Amino acid sequence: HSEWKPVIGLEVHAQINSKTKIFSSALNKFMAPPNSLVSQFDASMPGTLPVLNKECVRAAVMTAFALNCNFNLRSTFDRKHYFYADMPHGYQITQHWTPIAFDGHFTFPSSNGMESKSLKIERLQLEQDSGKSLHDEIDNVSLIDLNRAGVGLMEIVTAPELHSATDACAFIHELHLMLCTLGTCEGKMSEGQFRVDVNVSLHKPGEVFGTRAEVKNIAGIKHLQQVVDYEIERQADLLTRGLPVDQETRAFDVANGTTYSMRDK
Ligand code: ADP
Ligand code: MG
Repeated sequence: HSEWKPVIGLEVHAQINSKTKIFSSALNKFMAPPNSLVSQFDASMPGTLPVLNKECVRAAVMTAFALNCNFNLRSTFDRKHYFYADMPHGYQITQHWTPIAFDGHFTFPSSNGMESKSLKIERLQLEQDSGKSLHDEIDNVSLIDLNRAGVGLMEIVTAPELHSATDACAFIHELHLMLCTLGTCEGKMSEGQFRVDVNVSLHKPGEVFGTRAEVKNIAGIKHLQQVVDYEIERQADLLTRGLPVDQETRAFDVANGTTYSMRDK
C-alpha cells in the first residue's frame, strides 16, 4: 500500500481541572452518586442562565500559551444543536466562530527521540461536556447521569499534518504530559478526562487530500496506534480496489482492534 500517503489530524477533548463546571456552580467530580452534581442550569430548568467560570478561562489561556497560540481578545460562544437524552438543553455551548485561541504550534520529540517535530494547532476552544447515558446497568432501560453534563472541556484541534501512527502517538504523549504538568487537565484517560478523535485520509503523493474518516473517543495511546494503523489499511484496501472512502464517523472496537461505522457525515 506504499503508493498511498496518510494524512492525520487530531481533535483532543481535555476535561478542565476546575472545582466547578464551566457554566454552573455544581462540582466537577468523578464517581459521585449519579445525578448528585446537577445544578438547575445543568438540568436545563426554565429561566436559568450560564455563568462563565473564570477558572476554566484561566486554564484555557494557560494551555493556549503553552501551545504558542494567538488569542481572540473578544471570544464568543455558540450553540451546536443535538438531540441527546444526556444533553437536556438540546445543544452544546461551544466556540465555533471566535474560539479563545488559534494558530499555535507545539513541538514534540519524534518517537525515536532523536529529532523534534512541530505540529500546527488550528484552535483551542472552550465547550461543555455532555452527560452520560448508561445502557448496560438494567436490561432494556437507558439511565441518564448528568454529573458530567456541563463539565468544562478544552478542545484542541491540530492541522492535518501528521503522517504516521507513531507520530500521532508521540504528539499525543507530549500534549498529555504538558497538560498534566500545567495542571489544566488531570489527564486520567480511564476516567475520560482526555479523549482523542482521529481523522485519517489517504492520497497519492502530489495529489489533493482524500476523503477522511473520523474515529471518535479514543482513550489511550495504544488504542490510537491501533486505530490509525487499522484505518490506513482499511482505506488503502478500498482505494486500491477503486472503491470510495466514505466521509463518516466511526468508533473503535477495543476487543477486535478495528473500527466500525457509527453515522455518515
Ligand atoms: P469537523 O469539526 O467537521 O470535524 P474540522 O475542519 O474542524 O472539521 O477538522 C477536524 C479535523 O480533521 C482537524 O484535526 C483536521 O486536521 C482534520 N482533517 C481535515 N481534513 C483532513 C483530511 N483530508 N485528512 C485527515 N484529516 C483531516
Ligand atoms: Mg470533528
